[in-house]
Amino acid sequence: MTKTVDFLLTNALVLTMDKEFNQYAPGAVAVQGDSILAVGPVDEIAKEYTAKETLDCDGKILMPGLVNAHTHVPMTLLRGLADDLRLDVWLMGYMMPVEREFVSPEFVQLGTSIACAEFVRSGVTSFCDMYYFEEDVAKATVDAGLRAVCAQTVLKFPSPDADSWEDSLALARGFIERWKDHPLIVPSVAPHAPFTCTDEILRATAELAVEFDVPLHTHLAETALERENMRSENGMSVIPYVEKQGLLKAKVIAAHCVHIDLGEMHTLLRAGAGVAHNPSSNLKLASGFAPVPRMLEVGLNVGIGTDGPASNNDLDMFEEVRLASFIAKAVSNDPAAVPAPMALAMATRIGAQALHIGHLTGSLETGKRADLILVDATPLHNSPRFRRDPNNAYARLVYASKSTDVSDVMVNGEWLMREHQLLTLDEAELLARANELARQIDAFLIEREQSVLSKLIALGGSMEQESFELQVKVKLDDPSIIRSNIKKPEIKITAHKRYRQYDNYFSFEDPSQGRLRFREDELIDAKGNVASARTRLTLLGPREDKFEYDVLLSRSRYLAPATHTLRFYREYFKPVEEEIVEKDRLRWHIKYKDTQFFVNLDTVEKPDLGHFLEIKSRTWSRMDAEHKAELVLELIALLGATGSETMTRDYIEVVTGQQ
Ligand SMILES: [Zn+2]
Repeated sequence: MTKTVDFLLTNALVLTMDKEFNQYAPGAVAVQGDSILAVGPVDEIAKEYTAKETLDCDGKILMPGLVNAHTHVPMTLLRGLADDLRLDVWLMGYMMPVEREFVSPEFVQLGTSIACAEFVRSGVTSFCDMYYFEEDVAKATVDAGLRAVCAQTVLKFPSPDADSWEDSLALARGFIERWKDHPLIVPSVAPHAPFTCTDEILRATAELAVEFDVPLHTHLAETALERENMRSENGMSVIPYVEKQGLLKAKVIAAHCVHIDLGEMHTLLRAGAGVAHNPSSNLKLASGFAPVPRMLEVGLNVGIGTDGPASNNDLDMFEEVRLASFIAKAVSNDPAAVPAPMALAMATRIGAQALHIGHLTGSLETGKRADLILVDATPLHNSPRFRRDPNNAYARLVYASKSTDVSDVMVNGEWLMREHQLLTLDEAELLARANELARQIDAFLIEREQSVLSKLIALGGSMEQESFELQVKVKLDDPSIIRSNIKKPEIKITAHKRYRQYDNYFSFEDPSQGRLRFREDELIDAKGNVASARTRLTLLGPREDKFEYDVLLSRSRYLAPATHTLRFYREYFKPVEEEIVEKDRLRWHIKYKDTQFFVNLDTVEKPDLGHFLEIKSRTWSRMDAEHKAELVLELIALLGATGSETMTRDYIEVVTGQQ
């Protein structure tokens, strides 16, 4: 008596990708409902089963669908937006500003649908995602029919879907509660990375994942800089640090792990964590080489991921599998490292284990879900076929197959592609919508690039704007005269400080854009030591007006704490010229005729320009400024700084508007 099943896939080269690497040629797979009922040689399966629908695979390779262990699928819509930049400029200068402006539930659903179409076409049946509005990623994934671990991002900055991390955590909790038992989606939480989260976020997300027994998806030890910063700030490496925060109590999926040592690998192994290796992303962003052979030797489940399509820039797992093998060989100087069967296992069974869904998918075994693909291994670029070595089939897939050789895809017992025809997604419609969105994003960036100010604002963060500012500069031959005259009874000193100032001035092709100053200010204490330091970024408006010849009125200017490095701003703003000014500054906060002024006595050392007196005041209106200008002229006389006409015009050009 034969049993009737839903599907019988027969006459295939079946690569089960199970632990023993069993293969059957010719082989067959019986599918009942959402699961695999039997796998084996054609004659054995034929004896036991008949089917409502039998597919003659015509010698194609039948294997489990590929598992993309780390990605950010909605970023298909940002593919090619900005490339060949350093990570911080790429992320903070382009990705995050555009995400803040455009990312919405609709954006996320469209981007996910596009990614799913690419996945089906290239034989990916499961993926592990991390993004915003993750519930919408899950919805679009279910519509497309794929399997995914969907992780809602939590980080310390405001994000497109939440004003605070507490809001993100609440989103994650609601999402997990609603989707926990879904047949295709495993909901998850994603503390973005240790350096974009606080200790509190790491602990809270781990507790949430443990409470619901769902995976926790995060980026760990991606760059050498991350490891160095972690060591200098916390005295330990990344893995011990997150262990200390309780993160490893959860079922962790750790993307990257490029910069970890043997001890850290054992820590991850003990915690049962899975690793997602992202060869293209690590190459393109120059993150380094993950110690993949070592991690596999230790016994870690290392899957393979594409990372987001904005940093890869494709979602082609065939390419990733090949690179995972090639890079391991090149870096270890060993052509036997990560051989083809192992590379393919990383993208199937081991990858599924790394995502903590190994009981569901990743191999063709009785009881697992029917997630499978057919690959044509007869095209010219993959010929001829040798049969002597059983590993030949793996080598052909890893070293010569192309993603376009995938002809048929089934997930959870449902066909998503038959003979290269997508069954659940309309590519033409998705493309049209993506192109319309690209046009809007282009317009947004083109407008932003038109002014230094809008580029500055696009970076986000706190910023203050001043309306008018009054200032006078006088070149001095003898600075000691100021130090004694400032003690005159008409002047009331309210504070006195000393600073070292290091300024970089960026100027731009169009002078009406103003100049941007990156200033590092060191407050010097009575013993001559640095008491504190801060960096600020100021956009200096072009000088607007001049009274007499040394009272300057500056137009509006923008002031923001400089949260990035000088190098970041240089690469982001691309100035045509840079000037450096270094000086020692004595500053008095004074009151003269009931009006507040700052009096600065500067010694400009670089360039060597000598001594200057600067008097300045913040004003609220032009009328106010004109009244104060009178008082400033009185103060100049009172301080005995009569050399005003010797003021260096060049110097004024350099320091106009500075505080
Ligand atoms: Zn990533």
